[in-house]
Amino acid sequence: MVSRVIPVDEFDLVIFGGTGDLARRKILPGLYRRFRSGQMPEGARIIGAARADQDSAAYRKMIQDAIEEFVPEKSRDSESIAEFIKLLEYIPIDATGEGGWKELAAMVRKEVVKAFYFSVGPSLFGDLAERLHKYGIADDQSRLVVEKPFGRDLDSAKALNAVLAQHFDESQIYRIDHYLGKETVQNLMAVRFGNILFEPLWNSQYVDHIQITAAETVAVGSRGAYYDKSGAMRDMVQNHLMQLLCLIAMEPPNEFEPDAVRDEKLKVIRALDPVAQSDIVRGQYSGNADGPSYVEEAENPDSKTECFVAMKVNISNWRWKGTPIYLRTGKRLRARESEIAVVFKDPPHSIFGEQDGRRGNVLVIRLQPNEGMNLRVTIKEPGPGGMRLMEVPLDMSFAEALGPDAEDVPDAYERLIMDVIRGNQTLFMRGDEVEAAWAWTDPIIKGWTERGDKPKLYDPGSSGPEDALMLLHKDGRRWREIKV
Ligand code: NAP
Repeated sequence: MVSRVIPVDEFDLVIFGGTGDLARRKILPGLYRRFRSGQMPEGARIIGAARADQDSAAYRKMIQDAIEEFVPEKSRDSESIAEFIKLLEYIPIDATGEGGWKELAAMVRKEVVKAFYFSVGPSLFGDLAERLHKYGIADDQSRLVVEKPFGRDLDSAKALNAVLAQHFDESQIYRIDHYLGKETVQNLMAVRFGNILFEPLWNSQYVDHIQITAAETVAVGSRGAYYDKSGAMRDMVQNHLMQLLCLIAMEPPNEFEPDAVRDEKLKVIRALDPVAQSDIVRGQYSGNADGPSYVEEAENPDSKTECFVAMKVNISNWRWKGTPIYLRTGKRLRARESEIAVVFKDPPHSIFGEQDGRRGNVLVIRLQPNEGMNLRVTIKEPGPGGMRLMEVPLDMSFAEALGPDAEDVPDAYERLIMDVIRGNQTLFMRGDEVEAAWAWTDPIIKGWTERGDKPKLYDPGSSGPEDALMLLHKDGRRWREIKV
């Protein structure tokens, strides 16, 4: 099977923060992979901008080094790297100053797609947006890409939206949540809405509950002090897990168009019940021989910030009333694993006896590692000995199903940046969605902040605090194991 690569239109992409960690680790390696796959048109141009005083030659060398560091050997070759870096230019600019802007204006072409990637802290968004207009660089066809964190609460998110709205229309703004760029996440929509099999069962009559897990093995490490100001609820739940929840729970949009999809996602967020504090477990990892504890890394012995959170969420609408969704995410856990598991109810009656015959199906959508899907079904155990039942997975791994082509499946950043150039906002968060997500999150955070709750300790390399297990046990359910 050969994957189709549809070239995009000619473009100028300006990356503010083009020398930063995100640009070097994700954005430029991603663009290189699209170049190597043949998706990038001739005449595409990428302009890095940051304060550091260097020329384009030094920037090209920096990005060549980054590609060699961050793109696996089998997905790169020196010839295409040499060709790719010819597309790069660099311009020294301070977002808050006036130097460099006239030069940038002279550089950016009028007649091609223009995209501006704000790969800098959100405090600079306003300065950049204003100067892009003041110097006549952006026009009403230009696109703007902004990174998380998009605010730290409803007020700050509203303020950011307002700052951008002064200079750009909502149809020009692409708020990145890289989870939405993952192949399996889009496949989730294909599976739900491209098949007749699942949708009739996709409701509280047939679905017992849903689990969404994003487990990481990494600690907060040297980012500890920075991370301590946000925590897992802000860093993961409000954006990534909420987006997954929306896609799994939304009504079928009438067409696969940006606003049709985003309208349905927004309705889900608005239908979320407030969460009782008794339905939330927060955690911090303790230290061991392999590494320091969370509070040590956060350099804050009294820290009350969570690096683990598990919670039970209810949706008050006709489809989902009575089917809880359990969310769980944390650092320094047993394995790196992100998945969505839709756990179906048991068959209503068993012809095989109560013990054996009543097992629900589970559909698992794996986001990482090894993106794919797996449907657990009950079959007869092979061989003589009567009708004994067993469960087997109908397994679909993208790497196996697509063979060598799996390597060419763009990663999340690659896909999303190409969507920006194509002008397709489907996989980007709209301003009202972000605000609705914060409006739901704010009271939850306020609840534990006001009470001064201290997160529970958990052993590094475990599945999180014991209380998180109890969250499901008390409902007669259990978490899926986080497998090594
Ligand atoms: P970083 O490594 O600190 O890089 C920041 C970049 O911005 C550098 O290129 C820096 O270069 C430039 N910069 C800083 N102040 C500037 C100014 N006044 N004018 C112009 N350029 C300026 O940060 P990062 O990790 O790349 O993150 C960038 C943004 O993406 C942040 O908002 C972050 O939260 C978000 N993000 C990052 C990741 C990630 O994996 N790194 C993931 C998701 C979201 P100079 O100092 O030379 O100006």
